[in-house]
Amino acid sequence: DSVFAHVVQGPEDPILGVTVAYNKDQSPNKVNLGVGAYRTEEGKPLVLNVVRKAEQKLVNDMSRVKEYLPIVGLAEFNKLSARLILGADSPPVQENRVTTVQCLSGTGSLRVGGEFLARHYQERTIYIPTPTWGNHTKVFTLAGLSVKNYRYYDPATRGLNFQGLLEDLGSAPAGAVVLLHACAHNPTGVDPTLEQWEQIRQLMRSRALLPFFDSAYQGFASGSLDADAQSVRRFAADGGELLVAQSYAKNMGLYGERVGALSIVLKTSEVATKVESQLKLVIRPMYSNPPIHGASIVATILKDRDLFNEWTIELKAMADRIISMRHQLFDSLRAKGTPGDWSHIIKQIGMFTFTGLNPEQVAFMTKEYHIYMTSDGRISMAGLSSRTVPHLTEAIHAAVT
Ligand code: PLP
Repeated sequence: DSVFAHVVQGPEDPILGVTVAYNKDQSPNKVNLGVGAYRTEEGKPLVLNVVRKAEQKLVNDMSRVKEYLPIVGLAEFNKLSARLILGADSPPVQENRVTTVQCLSGTGSLRVGGEFLARHYQERTIYIPTPTWGNHTKVFTLAGLSVKNYRYYDPATRGLNFQGLLEDLGSAPAGAVVLLHACAHNPTGVDPTLEQWEQIRQLMRSRALLPFFDSAYQGFASGSLDADAQSVRRFAADGGELLVAQSYAKNMGLYGERVGALSIVLKTSEVATKVESQLKLVIRPMYSNPPIHGASIVATILKDRDLFNEWTIELKAMADRIISMRHQLFDSLRAKGTPGDWSHIIKQIGMFTFTGLNPEQVAFMTKEYHIYMTSDGRISMAGLSSRTVPHLTEAIHAAVT
C-alpha cells in the first residue's frame, strides 16, 4: 500500500477549476468566461507582436547564455520595472531609495513581499478587501501574516463601499499592512476615484498604515500605463514607504513566463540596500533565482523606444476590445429588455464584470447554456466576443426572469 494512501482528494481551485469543468463540456456552444486571460475576438490566446519581435531579437543574439540570474533577477528588468510603475521622474526612483527584485509573476511578488514583512515588520497583520482575488488570503497566510478584511464592495450599488472602507482602515491598528489593488480591482471591477484615492492616502499615512499595492493590470484597465499607475504614484510621491507587486501576465500577455517584480519604496537608499539583502535571504531558499526568458523579453521591450511604443498600442487595443465588449453586452441586455439595471457592466473597470448574478443563477447558466464563470458571478469580459454576446444575453435573461 502507498505510504500516501491516507491523502484525501483536495478541492479544485475555485478559479482554475472553472476551466477544468469547461474543458470537459462537449457542447459546441460552450463559453469560458472564467479565465483571467485575454482572448481575441476569435476566442484565441494572443501573443503580442512586440513580444514575438523581442523574442526574435533574443534568439538571434548569439552572445546570450543560459547562466543563472542573480538571486534578485535581471538588473535591467528591475530598474525598468520600478520606473514603469512609479514613473521615471518619481522621487524614490531619482533618489535611489527603491529596491526591486524580479519574482515569479504577481503571485510570487506578493509571496516574497509577504514573507519579508512577516520576518522584518513589526505589525504582522494585513488587511485585504472584501471581496478580493481568491489567492490573496492563502498567499499572505502562508507567508506568515495574519489576514483581516476591510469593506470594499457594496452589493446594493454594485460600487465602492467608501464609507465602510474608511471606517475599517480608520480602526485598523496603527502600522497594519493594507493590500490595495492598484487598478481594475479583481473581482469587482470597482476602483476608487482619484479623489477617493487621495482620501485613502491621507487616512493611511495619518495612521501609519503600510500600503502593499497589487498591480496586476497596469495599462490593461484604461489602456494607459500612466493613468493606471496613478494610485501607486500618489503614495510614492508623498515621501512615505510602500510595497508594490507587479505582474506582466496580462499587460504583456506573458502569463506562463511568470514574470513580475516586487518593489519596496523606502525612506533612504541605506535602508533600501539593507532591505534588498534581506529579500535575497527570503528568495534563496525558496527558488534560488528567477527564470531568465520572460524578464529578458520585458527588458528588451521596455528599454527600446520603438518597441515600447508598439507595446502601448497593442496594450491599448486589448483594453479597447474589453471596453467594447462591455458596451456590446450592456446594449444587448437593454435591447432584450432584461430586467434590472445593468449599467455597472459599463461602469466597472478592467478584465472583469461583477454581474451580481448569484451562485444559483450561475449554476443555471452553466447547466442550461454551457457558460462557465466563477460562482460569485464574475465574468471575464476578455473571454467574450461579438459572436458570443447574444448567447450570454439569452442566458442572463433566462437566469433572472
Ligand atoms: N493579483 C490579482 C488581483 C490578479 O488578478 C492576479 C491574476 O489573476 C494576480 C495578482 C497574479 O497573477 P500572476 O501571478 O499570474 O501574475
